[in-house]
Amino acid sequence: MPLIKAASGGPVMLVYIIDPDYWAAPDRSARQFQVFRHSINTLRRELQDREGQLIVRVGKTLEVMKTLFSELSFQVIHTHEVTETSCGMGISERIKEWSLSNNIGFAEYPSNGVFRDLKNRDGWAARWNKRMQQGPLDSPESVQFVHAESTPGWESRWPSIVNGTLVSENKNAWWAMNPEQVLDDFLNRRGLSYHTDMSSPASAEEACSRLSTHLAVGAISMRQIVSRVTDRQDYLRSLDKNIRGTALKALGAYKSRLHWHCHFIQKLESEPAIEFENMSKSFDGIRENSFNEEYYQAWCRGETGYPFVDACMRYLRETGWINFRMRAMLVSFASYDLWLHWDRTAKFLATQFLDYEPGIHYSQFQMQSGTTGINTVRIYSPEKQSNDQDPDGVFIRRWVPELESLGAEHIHAPWKLSVTDQKRYGVVLDNHYPAPIVDHQRAAKEARTRIGQIKKSNSAREEKKIILKKHGSRKGRNKPRKTDKQTDLFEQ
Ligand SMILES: Cc1cc2nc3c(=O)[nH]c(=O)nc-3n(C[C@H](O)[C@H](O)[C@H](O)COP(=O)(O)OP(=O)(O)OC[C@H]3O[C@@H](n4cnc5c(N)ncnc54)[C@H](O)[C@@H]3O)c2cc1C
Repeated sequence: MPLIKAASGGPVMLVYIIDPDYWAAPDRSARQFQVFRHSINTLRRELQDREGQLIVRVGKTLEVMKTLFSELSFQVIHTHEVTETSCGMGISERIKEWSLSNNIGFAEYPSNGVFRDLKNRDGWAARWNKRMQQGPLDSPESVQFVHAESTPGWESRWPSIVNGTLVSENKNAWWAMNPEQVLDDFLNRRGLSYHTDMSSPASAEEACSRLSTHLAVGAISMRQIVSRVTDRQDYLRSLDKNIRGTALKALGAYKSRLHWHCHFIQKLESEPAIEFENMSKSFDGIRENSFNEEYYQAWCRGETGYPFVDACMRYLRETGWINFRMRAMLVSFASYDLWLHWDRTAKFLATQFLDYEPGIHYSQFQMQSGTTGINTVRIYSPEKQSNDQDPDGVFIRRWVPELESLGAEHIHAPWKLSVTDQKRYGVVLDNHYPAPIVDHQRAAKEARTRIGQIKKSNSAREEKKIILKKHGSRKGRNKPRKTDKQTDLFEQ
């Protein structure tokens, strides 16, 4: 929309600004920039084919805008609405203020199903559907581009302004592929078993859409995806039940997650404070003063002594992605077993994710840490998840090679081996591989008690009503299932 509107008003200058303040934030990392750089270069190539140009400037956004204005005075800034961290929103606000005080128009357009100035969630799903039904927009027929110099050497200047490690960059990396082809392949082939294969990190690699990174950088839009999924669903409905098999079920599960994408971002949009503060104040103080640095470092390195947790963390650190269930397990382990406040763990995982999307990230982090006050508390058992999602231990052996010699019967819980067997297999705990840093059963029980006591209090119950009104899904997702009703706290 910004390009269409700008093109209808006259010549257009397309600008991308690499702001050192933004990239130096503790939740930003080199690997995320790797993806942005790739996207910027792809867009630059595509624009060249249309005799267009994307101008890339490095510098503080406001300073860059002032310079551009002095070089090529412009009348209106057209941009997308963004739901960002306080750092990103601050940059956007400063530009808005500056443009308005200099008689420059400032127009923002929505790009997904998130709504500005929303009072509560009544009618949100209907508004989401309505916006998605509008479908993707056609490109403007002709655009008169304004050309200007980019900052010389912008591509090589970036390592000095960001932190963290890179991911391997080859043409088979999902994030480096053409998003439309990734979507096509998912809809026609990979996604057929989405609903059954999304939970194991090994099968999820292929069975999930792998579009989150493309969505996070804006290489594909939510409306484009929803429109393609809806077309595919219509087509499948026209087929005989025996021919379409479970494809419709798989796509239904996928579409509901597209809905969640915006549902979760809406939480940060409506309450930016959840980047820093517990959504439910009833949980303030429970973890703030008990941060165990050693536990934190072991968790970050993937050396907790729980093979499946460590395998997932090492896989994520290497590839920049892991599936939803395993993200939830990593956070559950940090927040419940290790009792670490989500503030630092959220920033660390953000730097590892290529698809880092602050609105989803902070909302999910609080949900998986038990601080929203409205969600059922799920404490994941690393051993159960390991048995369920990697029964033969193939994933663990790949990512925790110290345990290579262990068979499926021992690999999920090597601490159960006798000292003699540890020696026999060459996996001596605290020598070749760490002993568990905490006892899961005990830690989970303690966490359940602590959270449960607060949840039962009158003040937490009163607060829950207010939070549900503001953030809760109206689709009954927050109602506990029958089996959860007794405790509202259970182990997965
Ligand atoms: C602690 C935690 C942090 C997370 N942080 C992020 C993040 O920074 N960026 C991000 O895109 N996702 C995040 N997620 C959600 C989810 O794990 C990823 O969206 C998903 O794994 C991305 O892979 P995919 O595109 O192949 O997903 P698919 O399984 O194919 O899902 C399709 C799309 O639906 C959306 N989606 C899927 N699951 C969720 C969910 N639980 N909540 C909200 N939207 C969802 C995403 O846009 C995703 O691309 C987080 C989940 C947890 C538990």
